[in-house]
Amino acid sequence: MSFAEFALDPRLLSNLQQLGYTQPTPIQQQAIAPILAGRDLLAGAQTGTGKTAAFVLPILQRLLTTAAAATTPVRALVLVPTRELALQVHQSVERYGAGTGLRAALVYGGVSIAAQAEVLQAGVELVIATPGRLLDHLRQGVVSLSGVEVLVLDEADRMLDMGFADEINALLAQLPVARQTLLFSATFNDGVYQLAKSRLRDPLRIEV
Ligand code: AMP
Repeated sequence: MSFAEFALDPRLLSNLQQLGYTQPTPIQQQAIAPILAGRDLLAGAQTGTGKTAAFVLPILQRLLTTAAAATTPVRALVLVPTRELALQVHQSVERYGAGTGLRAALVYGGVSIAAQAEVLQAGVELVIATPGRLLDHLRQGVVSLSGVEVLVLDEADRMLDMGFADEINALLAQLPVARQTLLFSATFNDGVYQLAKSRLRDPLRIEV
């Protein structure tokens, strides 16, 4: 199987080729087509499986090929537990989306809030964020999530372990109910299942 079978935008395919990705990994093979088709996803996947490209590629494809549903710019939100993961996901977005003109903001705590606010206010299609800092920006009114079409909860188990449940719920209250939600987790416990049950609609389950 090759990436070309997903009928991705030529700019995305060319970026993958330049990165030397010849073949989708198992999670990419299973997840990309259903995500492109708009399905919710509940995926059991560890880091190193290629899970980031599995959600970033279909999100970029959607942003490139469909019109925004809202007038607010942010169309996709990726929530992650840590600054390190935020940086990695952001780097993936920049690599896979190079040359597309799509804009992504990186939002995490422990650094000055002003520079992040400036990027958000300039208008971005994608936000990659840790929950607490994104809530700070929302409370300051620098960003709206009312036009988010796709939400990714990445490493959901770690987000819950780190005590982000309240922040996640507060953020989810700001998102449209009619959206696509993709949940990735390395492990599954009651907390993760509860989150999935309450937030996903008829999700496809994938285990790699
Ligand atoms: P992840 O699990 O998303 O952290 O990805 C693990 C590593 O695999 C990253 O360094 C990616 O650049 C790389 N990777 C992801 N998908 C592919 C692919 N289809 N072919 C080769 N490398 C890949």
